[in-house]
Amino acid sequence: MNENAENTCGYREAWRLNLRTWKMWMRRCPGYFLSAALSAAGQALAPYATIWLSAQVIGELAGGRDPQRLAFWAALTVSLTAAMSLVNGLLKRWANYAENELSVQKLRPLTDKMASLDYAQTDRQEVQDLYQQVRQNDNWNGWGAYLSVMFFSDFCKAVLQVLGGVGFTLTLFFTDVPAGSPLTALNSPLCMLGVLAAMIAAVLASNACGSRADLILSRQASAVREGNRYFSFFGMMAFDADRAADLRMYRQQESVCRHYMQNHSFTPRSPIARLTRGKRGLLRGLSQSFSALLTCAVYLFVCLKAWAGAFGAGAVTQYVGAASQLFGGISLVLETFGQIRANGAFLRLTFEFLDLPNPMYQGSLTTEKRSDRQYQVEFRDVSFRYPGSDAWALRHVNVSFRVGSRLAVVGPNGSGKTTFIKLLCRLYDPTEGEILLNGIDIRKYRYDDYIALFSVVFQDFRLPSLPLGENVAGTVQYDREKAKRCLADAGFELRPDKLPQGLDTYLYKDMEEGVNLSGGEAQKAAIARALYKDAPFLILDEPTASLDPIAEAEIYEKFNAIAGDRTAVYISHRLSSCKFCDAIAVFDHGAIVQTGTHAALVADETGLYHTLWQAQAQYYTKP
Ligand code: ADP
Repeated sequence: MNENAENTCGYREAWRLNLRTWKMWMRRCPGYFLSAALSAAGQALAPYATIWLSAQVIGELAGGRDPQRLAFWAALTVSLTAAMSLVNGLLKRWANYAENELSVQKLRPLTDKMASLDYAQTDRQEVQDLYQQVRQNDNWNGWGAYLSVMFFSDFCKAVLQVLGGVGFTLTLFFTDVPAGSPLTALNSPLCMLGVLAAMIAAVLASNACGSRADLILSRQASAVREGNRYFSFFGMMAFDADRAADLRMYRQQESVCRHYMQNHSFTPRSPIARLTRGKRGLLRGLSQSFSALLTCAVYLFVCLKAWAGAFGAGAVTQYVGAASQLFGGISLVLETFGQIRANGAFLRLTFEFLDLPNPMYQGSLTTEKRSDRQYQVEFRDVSFRYPGSDAWALRHVNVSFRVGSRLAVVGPNGSGKTTFIKLLCRLYDPTEGEILLNGIDIRKYRYDDYIALFSVVFQDFRLPSLPLGENVAGTVQYDREKAKRCLADAGFELRPDKLPQGLDTYLYKDMEEGVNLSGGEAQKAAIARALYKDAPFLILDEPTASLDPIAEAEIYEKFNAIAGDRTAVYISHRLSSCKFCDAIAVFDHGAIVQTGTHAALVADETGLYHTLWQAQAQYYTKP
């Protein structure tokens, strides 16, 4: 992404994106917007009521000095101010509560999108980069969709504060200095226009400087992202349990720290620090100076008019107070506008991600839930290239699965076995050729229906840090007896000393009281999860890689019984375990180079299977 393009966003575009974001959050959390608007209204308008009431008290003090009237105004001021504080406190509490509810959902739009993307999309480097950029921007300063929500209350408050301020200061310009005063020039429209113009110029100048300073900061996004990357990678490395052993064995701490310290994104030498000492700091200082000048100008104008006899002391309090509220409101409007503009580039990136299309064709045919599991799948001249790759991962693959059969897929590393499974499960669509389910192209079926036909244990599966039972069942409410049966079938022992809460024991240490599983135990749990799904196709990609030989033998002995009437496909490096399969497909360089039973393939001495068998046979007892 071009850095300039990323950081330049005009007001129009920024507002369009900001309104879209508000709409998005309104759908998710309407309560927040109502509470924020009401709370903002209370905060914006309450000071005017206090200012007006105080003006009455001071006016009375400086004028009639009637004790009864004075007591009335004082009592009204105190009671109303107290009542407003109470109401504002309650509104603020409601708004805080709603904001908290919303903040919990802060990442939901991103995670929902990521989870709903076609698998092929999530595999693309650009998509991962985009997602990381959006997350990093949020991590830095909250830039992006969530920050936009915060602007809503500022925006409401600012607009109402300005409207209230205009209402309370309007008479300042229309109350004339009495004739005969040496300052009657203050009555002239030209003078008033001049004063007004000077005030507006000071507000604009102050905010122009402030916005510019914000924009300068937002343009450091890429430097901060880089710093955060260093921070999360190097800074957190020591806490990473997966790397802890290597870190110690190879004494990598030193070189890790050296790389970490070489990044200066957050040190006094960083570009942000330099800008804050230089241009950005200067602009912030100027912004404050213009604000101070403005306050001086307001005081001067109001006091001169009062001195010349246009109004009394009470009105001075009202005008000075209301004018400072008004200019505060104008400042807040402009500041919010500036921030909305600065956030525009980050929202553009956010929506670039949220608008990513799902190009996979979604058919409408249902797969009909068949109790006889008569689902016939056929690969017809299928070739496949990974997105962005020129190399064929699969080439002219033709194979069909007999219902209820056991098919083994073998071949050297990188020969296309896992890719074959991914295409079968429609995680990717073929680049050429077609895959048919009961004679119909699988693209014509509803996607959810189609993938429901498969139970897969992927080679690089990950179990979430949830209770064991939920892991197996994939839902919160589940059939506990069935979960136990599936675990038992997969050879997973529910030992009370290891799993004190049985099915309710959390896996891994991310959660309190979680237990760590060994690779083999995790693999058994993953197999149990596949069994629980009870789909017509059972696919195991290297199912025994982490299992000890006894566990492996157990799984294979049971495999036929476990698979039952399901069609089973499994990938294995250990050819001895393919013997029980009805058919074996041998992959090499993305193509199926041999098919047949174990006996037939071993007998073919010119074939790859024979070579692989010979290579492994020296480690095993020959059949
Ligand atoms: P196997 O399972 O037989 O070890 P794979 O199916 O994983 O082989 O890989 C087949 C080929 O596709 C390999 O050359 C591999 O490098 C390539 N490949 C696998 N995954 C990707 C991917 N996500 N993007 C690009 N190429 C890939």
